[in-house]
Amino acid sequence: MSAPHDVNETHDPALASWVPSADGHPDFPIQNLPLGIYRTGGEPPRVGVAIGDEILDVAAALDGGHLTGHAGRAAELCRDEMLNPLMAAGPAAASELRAGVSALLRRGGDAHRRSGDALAELLLPQREAEMLVPALIGDYTDFYASVHHATNVGSMFRPDNPLLPNYKWVPIGYHGRASSIVASGSAIRRPSGQTRDDANAPPGMGPTRRLDYELEVGAYIGRGSALGETIAVSEAERHVFGLSIVNDWSARDVQTWEYQPLGPFLAKNFATTVSPWVVTMEALAPFRVPAFARPAGDPEPLPYLDAPAVRERGGVDLTLEVLLQSARMRAEDIAPMRVSIGSFTAMYWTVAQLVAHHASNGCNLRPGDLLASGTVSGPTPGSRGCLLERTWRGTEPLALPTGETRTFLEDGDEVIMRGWCERAGFARIGFGECRGTIV
Ligand code: CA
Repeated sequence: MSAPHDVNETHDPALASWVPSADGHPDFPIQNLPLGIYRTGGEPPRVGVAIGDEILDVAAALDGGHLTGHAGRAAELCRDEMLNPLMAAGPAAASELRAGVSALLRRGGDAHRRSGDALAELLLPQREAEMLVPALIGDYTDFYASVHHATNVGSMFRPDNPLLPNYKWVPIGYHGRASSIVASGSAIRRPSGQTRDDANAPPGMGPTRRLDYELEVGAYIGRGSALGETIAVSEAERHVFGLSIVNDWSARDVQTWEYQPLGPFLAKNFATTVSPWVVTMEALAPFRVPAFARPAGDPEPLPYLDAPAVRERGGVDLTLEVLLQSARMRAEDIAPMRVSIGSFTAMYWTVAQLVAHHASNGCNLRPGDLLASGTVSGPTPGSRGCLLERTWRGTEPLALPTGETRTFLEDGDEVIMRGWCERAGFARIGFGECRGTIV
């Protein structure tokens, strides 16, 4: 593997922080510095950076004179209740803020030598904060970028023709609903919908009996694009602020009945959960890998979806897992059970290709827009990112440690998604958790 591109001193694995919980933290060491929006008590929402088990209050650091020059100008964009102003300013501003925050949090750095323990006043324990949706998401688009997911689902619904002929040419997606995107930890109310179990009987209306999750990766748009403009695939990542984890809750029985001919609708738009921390593209630089290797015989991407940089480092070596804890497991103090573990490298289309394709007809993208990848499923049963696939449409139930079984989600079930990046010679960084409980 070649040396990673775009790595700088903020990625140095030797960096240590004066924040006690930061060094060796599985998710939030000083090399990560993801951004989020948090609230305490009745205070207005604020921009924070995750460091160890704490949150750095960016505006407080600015007011304390700890972020100056370029970093100070970028931090001025963090006086908002959303990340949108910082996102809109593009990758240079995010990078300048990252450099300033890295220097501020560094053990033995100028700020630490100057202010010492007084810097701790800039921190708040994460356990005392309520994490919110990090951006004002104007538009939400959901793709279908895992060829394994598309093939598995297709084979259940169309055994003779699992993968439709457009799949390897065009990144398939649909417009989702931004208004029902909720923060991690929000309760998910089981939706009702129209379903038909018997092809010879009329449909009925009632609570879904096939409630599912979908493990996905979300890309937040940074700098936008104007209506009528396109985005070159080689430039597309400069329009992406960062990534987080998305749970695209899905009512499979509703979906089966409603999805033709116009695609997903009420089976999907009752709730979508996002993880609170946005890991910037810069933080991910050490973990970039080549795009998915297309098998021999697959078409090459059309020129507007193809560029050397996309082929060479369009992928992200991001490991993702799903855990489930039933109400009974919780009552009996049994830890959540891993349901699947997979990799974002299994995706057929890269983030850059999704962005370039979205703008290829002149559709404008705006700061804070969320583009989700589609279910991240790999080639093995243990890497399937939704219950529809994991239990093969309910025919292979999962056994829980309590003796309970699951085909789809029951009331009281909590779904927990996690993601992290590891590479020899670099600090591990993580995405934190994306949680939701069915009520
Ligand atoms: Ca989805």
